[in-house]
Amino acid sequence: MSILNNTRELQRIDAAHHLHPFTNTRELNGRGARIITSAKGVYLNDADGNRILDGMSGLWCVNVGHGRKEIVSAVANQMEQLTFYNTFFNTTHPPVIELSRLLSEVTPPQFNYFHFTGSGSDSNDTIFRMARYYWELEGKPEKSIFISRRGAYHGSTVVAASFGGFNSMHKQGGLPIDGIYHAPSPDWWSNGGDLSPEEFGRKVAAQTLALIDGIGAHRIAAMIGEPIMGAGGVIIPPKTYWPIIAQGLKERDILFISDEVICGFGRTGQWFGCEFMGTEPDFMTMAKGITSGYVPMGAVAVSDRVAKVLIEKGDEFTHGYTYSGHPAACAASIATIGIMRSEKLVEHVREDVGPYLKEKWLTLADHPMVGEAVMEGLIGAFQFTSNKSARAGFPEAAKIGFTAREHSFQNGLVMRAVGDRMVIAPPLTLTRAEADDLVEKAARVTDLTYAYAK
Ligand code: PLP
Repeated sequence: MSILNNTRELQRIDAAHHLHPFTNTRELNGRGARIITSAKGVYLNDADGNRILDGMSGLWCVNVGHGRKEIVSAVANQMEQLTFYNTFFNTTHPPVIELSRLLSEVTPPQFNYFHFTGSGSDSNDTIFRMARYYWELEGKPEKSIFISRRGAYHGSTVVAASFGGFNSMHKQGGLPIDGIYHAPSPDWWSNGGDLSPEEFGRKVAAQTLALIDGIGAHRIAAMIGEPIMGAGGVIIPPKTYWPIIAQGLKERDILFISDEVICGFGRTGQWFGCEFMGTEPDFMTMAKGITSGYVPMGAVAVSDRVAKVLIEKGDEFTHGYTYSGHPAACAASIATIGIMRSEKLVEHVREDVGPYLKEKWLTLADHPMVGEAVMEGLIGAFQFTSNKSARAGFPEAAKIGFTAREHSFQNGLVMRAVGDRMVIAPPLTLTRAEADDLVEKAARVTDLTYAYAK
């Protein structure tokens, strides 16, 4: 059988038996899913023989690049030594001990306790329970409401999807659950009107604090937010936004949760996105980059303030997952952090490839159909527009983002489309030559999409 026939057959079986996440399976029947067969560094290979630059690090996770033997052997060695043991009921094992210690070194100083989960979604569900429990222990059980933001993505479990601010997700399954309110998004390009980004940041921060005051701070447990909204379209908030909110939360005695699932582990050129934004959260949600996506894992970083109350006043925390602190995942994470340190990847992003890529990426905004291009560290986006000065979008039916995403794949670059906004988050190991390749391909995609839109 030729490779081509083989591919079509695999696609047929896939469409017949695999219900994909975030995919319309009916559409797959005609088209077939793209089949990725191998990867090395920042490049993927598909079943049709194409080599594609992975501008999305898999799904914002393969921060140290694909095919790292160090991680593969660390996981294999660990599995030979101890394949599985749980961390419930007063038990532990060396890799989870070592990882907890390492995390206390690389996270901001207020974090010295870590609770392990299987994913980012699990981590956010865990924080929901932990934060409510904290306030119960503090004698303030009425502090049970959470503030999130429209346009945010925090995962797909019931709590995490309720934290999220997507109507398309809330429509399915009767979400959000009670007790979660959504503040406006700090998306300047879409909502900023005539305001400067700084004025707009102040305005949205004030609206957020007004929402909180309207509900009553005495009823609010915590606010959750990503330093930079990733899956919401790489919305980099104006510099004025987070400091005002963080200060407002502190004054109102509301816990602050920094969802670092995408921004954590070097993405912004700091170890964690909250350090990039200058905030001091009480919790951090971690996943993805924690193992570079090699093995599933999530974690919750718990600040000393919260941990002290849980430990000194609390009983057993009746919460955990079979795979909390799975030895193989811990081994993958230890090896990932080892690579990040020895190759100085955070510095590489902050001082070398990040600024290099940013300078080139921002020139995409010179294109007549591109409204803005943004980038911090190695996370960026550009926005298609039907009218640059009016910052106008295209009608949904024009399928601009979808078309651009297809052009991008066909031209050897994975970019994700969030509406008509194209986003990237390449592996942190990206070289300058690979950054050139990425921008050249992205520019070609803007031209092809321009021709399609005419
Ligand atoms: N939080 C953020 C900011 C995310 O981007 C994601 C996933 O993309 C999640 C949480 C959920 O993580 P997971 O898919 O591991 O459940």
